[in-house]
Order: sequence, then C-alpha cells, then structure tokens
Amino acid sequence: MRILLVEDEPDLGQALTKTLSRERYIVDWVQDGQSAWGYLDQRWVNYTLAIFDWMLPGLSGLELCQKLRAGGSSLPVLILTARDQIADRVEGLDAGADDYLIKPFGMAELLARLRSLQRRSPQLVPQRLTVGDWLLDYGASTVSPPRHPPLLLTAKEFQLLEYFLKHPQQILSGEQIRAQLWPLAAESSSNVVAAQVRLLRRKLGEAGQDGAIETVYGLGYRFAGSPRHEAKPTL
Ligand code: CA
Repeated sequence: MRILLVEDEPDLGQALTKTLSRERYIVDWVQDGQSAWGYLDQRWVNYTLAIFDWMLPGLSGLELCQKLRAGGSSLPVLILTARDQIADRVEGLDAGADDYLIKPFGMAELLARLRSLQRRSPQLVPQRLTVGDWLLDYGASTVSPPRHPPLLLTAKEFQLLEYFLKHPQQILSGEQIRAQLWPLAAESSSNVVAAQVRLLRRKLGEAGQDGAIETVYGLGYRFAGSPRHEAKPTL
C-alpha cells in the first residue's frame, strides 16, 4: 500500500512518515503542491491513499484535490487542516476530499481514519493472501510457509514477500522491486533490495524454504515457492 503524503511542516512530515512506514505503508513524502502533482502524474505509481495538508506552497491541498478529481481519479484523499470552521469543512469536501482531520491530531486517530477510507474505497485491502500453500496474514504481519507455523515479518519483509507472492515465477529486477517498494525520493540503490532479500531468505530458510526466492544471475530474483508447487515446464 503506497501513500502520497504532502506536508510542508518538516517535523510533522517526518513523524507521519515514521508512523505510516511502521504500519507497512510505503510513503512518498513531499513538501509542496507542485512536486505532489508531479508524483500523482506518474501513471506507473499506484497510490492507495493520499494525505494532503491544506496550506501548502505551490498548490494547496484543495487545489490538488480538485485537479485529481478533474482528471477522473477516485484516489481516497484525507485533508489535514488547522482550520475548523464549518465553511472550511464544506469547501474541503466540495473540492473532492473524502475526509479531513483537524490539527493537532493523534496518530491513532489518523490511522483509524485511513483504515476507514480504505474500507470505503473500492480497492479493498485484503485480510489474507494465499498463493499455493503460502499464506500471508495482513492483520498479524505473518507468513505461513507450506507445512510451517506462521513467521513474524518486519514491515519491509512483509512488503517484499507480498510482492514476490503476487508475481510468482516472474523474474523481478532489483530496480523494479526498489521502485515499487521503496519511497521514490529515497537515495537507495538496488543494494537495499539485495540486503532485504538476504534477510527475508534467512527467515524463510529457518522455515525450511531455502530456495523459495531464487537469484536469476544478471536479471534479478524469482519467487519459485516450494518445489512441490513449481510451475510445470511447458514444452
Ligand atoms: Ca502547511
């Protein structure tokens, strides 16, 4: 799940990024409206949710909302605002925001609002993902490899394994994985992917799944799953 966060107060932006990342969201944080629009305009990035501060340099949160809706996007948007007058709330909702939160707010309330937005959005967040004999449990942050009790995963391990499970038997390059699972602005190379794959493999190895993620030399990685469920070669 990828979130676009647009907040120009550095302290708040940082705190939100930290909290949301811990909740397994991939967070692209930008500090002005123009950059935000640039991110939204990149068609290959799929956001699950957006959080816009109302008052921003460049385009305001409301203007971003209006531009999105004018383009036909139904991306769920939560507006953050210090204003609390009725007229402002109406203006925000009229601009196409799905919900708003008055500053200052508690992180627990923000997370609850985001969960509620996800429930309302057509693109429902699944509770579980089953691929062959593998089971990912979103609520518990665990994976159950074949014939094995659940293993607890970190947020990044979970995102990585989810991505592999959704693309079984496909060769995924380090660059492709990095672009999908790490924030766009992060100065990370595909080394971060290699390091994360190592950690995930170690965990899966302890559950007897050493060969689940294969390295395809020079190309990337491939989730082969358990040998029993390997796709039959076609002639
Ligand atoms: Ca602001």
